[in-house]
Amino acid sequence: MTPKQVLEKLAPFKRNCYVPVTRAGASDLTASKFCGIPWLAKDEAWPICPNCQNPMQLFLQLNLAHCPELPDYCPKTGLLQLFYCTNKTNKSSCEADCEAWYPFAKSTLIRIITPEGEPQQFKKSPVKKSFPTKEIIKWTSKVDYPQPDGVDALNKLLNNKEQEILGDLDYPINDDKLLGWPAWMHETEHPTCPNCGDPMPLLFQIAGDANLPYTLNEMGCGYITQCVKHPYQLAFSWVDS
Ligand SMILES: [Zn+2]
Ligand SMILES: [Zn+2]
Repeated sequence: MTPKQVLEKLAPFKRNCYVPVTRAGASDLTASKFCGIPWLAKDEAWPICPNCQNPMQLFLQLNLAHCPELPDYCPKTGLLQLFYCTNKTNKSSCEADCEAWYPFAKSTLIRIITPEGEPQQFKKSPVKKSFPTKEIIKWTSKVDYPQPDGVDALNKLLNNKEQEILGDLDYPINDDKLLGWPAWMHETEHPTCPNCGDPMPLLFQIAGDANLPYTLNEMGCGYITQCVKHPYQLAFSWVDS
């Protein structure tokens, strides 16, 4: 059995994913980007962390109209925005800690907005130690596969030797990516939708210390997940190791 044969056997689990290619520097307000200045309506204040009252970093803005592929249920226009508080002022109190690895933490804001009307023009970011902008200028299409412990059916499909071969391959891709299989650190960690209780599949994976210059944990990623039935219900989470 070769790695190629194992992957052929896994064909039903093959997914496309798209790794962003970025460029440092300024970008349009509506561009897809990591960090920098988001599109905000003229009368809207920069999102503030309810814990510490500081402006939150923009981690990611995705212009959905410019994404190479989106699931059927995902809106095809609008801006997905993820704000996250990077202040570590209340380390002693878990409740008040702004470093929110768990989904639906109040020190994050994740939403899809429609950019209509006049935007707000910020000369510079109000965020302390604002991270530099990385504009997403194109996407590289790749194929992605799960690990055996990520999908129950894989355990049945592959014997131990084949699972070992798959384990040695670098799947799921541990990088920034749109869609594909989530590269969970330990086991599957899909947040469940607060409206319907269903597990929310991956929309975008953010690798810390890459385009986003922030450590999410030592090796892992952060995950933007989205409810299939309630596509405006999004979550951001990562695993606190
Ligand atoms: Zn905060
Ligand atoms: Zn739901």
